[in-house]
Amino acid sequence: MHRPVRCFSCGKPLADKYEEFEQRVKDGEEPEDIFEEMGIERYCCRRMILTSIDATEQMIEYER
Ligand SMILES: [Zn+2]
Repeated sequence: MHRPVRCFSCGKPLADKYEEFEQRVKDGEEPEDIFEEMGIERYCCRRMILTSIDATEQMIEYER
């Protein structure tokens, strides 16, 4: 799955955010709380990460 290094809309660097976000979601934290703690405030950036994670989960299902 391709994960953009920066948000397409505002240019915020996101490359180092995906892994932490995905791990914390799997640990049962609320995505909104994670975004706030990680300083990701804009909806464009949140959507960027969420769509990336959703696509990853779909790929994992295909592998089963
Ligand atoms: Zn953004």
